[in-house]
Amino acid sequence: MPPNLTVVDHPLVQHKLSIMRDRGTSTSKFRRLMHEISLLLAYEATRDLALVETEIESPLERARVPVLSGKKLCFVSILRAGNGLLDGMLELVPSARVGHIGLYREPKSLQAIEYYLKLPADLAERNLIVVDPMLATGNSAVAAISRLTELGVRPIKFVCLVAAPEGVANVQRVFPEVAIITAALDRCLDEHGYILPGLGDAGDRLFGTK
Ligand code: URA
Repeated sequence: MPPNLTVVDHPLVQHKLSIMRDRGTSTSKFRRLMHEISLLLAYEATRDLALVETEIESPLERARVPVLSGKKLCFVSILRAGNGLLDGMLELVPSARVGHIGLYREPKSLQAIEYYLKLPADLAERNLIVVDPMLATGNSAVAAISRLTELGVRPIKFVCLVAAPEGVANVQRVFPEVAIITAALDRCLDEHGYILPGLGDAGDRLFGTK
């Protein structure tokens, strides 16, 4: 297993992902499953958030209890499929801020071209979790993370649903410090840059555009 890569092998995650992979799964079911898995991935991606003890009064006595401390969170969604992961994550961390980065894959070179960027003003004061369901060539992930590191943001994690070994290697070559959290590490890419076995085009399957 490559370093700094977590494959969330929880049975619920694996079961839900297997249903999503099936070409017969409807758009509405695919979207619901994406939402459900994103909660579980967010749980994993936030497991090292810092805690500090505070004093509360329970109905029975005073007690010292842990609460979150340190930097607040920001999720950055790579448009458009990243938005499929966003809702569930926000359900778990409602106070998080959200940024969007629009990137499309140039079909021949498979390079990522930026067409949109909107980020919270206090970005540099936050822990960042970049979300995109499919880590394929890794070009979009590298482009997004490069943009964010240019702005001085650290630390950054990357959460996806399915990763290809090529994408993981690409991100880790450029950003070895970025932790990647995924539900699956698939076999490889095909000649069009799609993940095998994968689940097809995540954006099309989420939004029913094909
Ligand atoms: N983007 C997708 O939506 N699916 C893939 O398999 C690769 C990139």
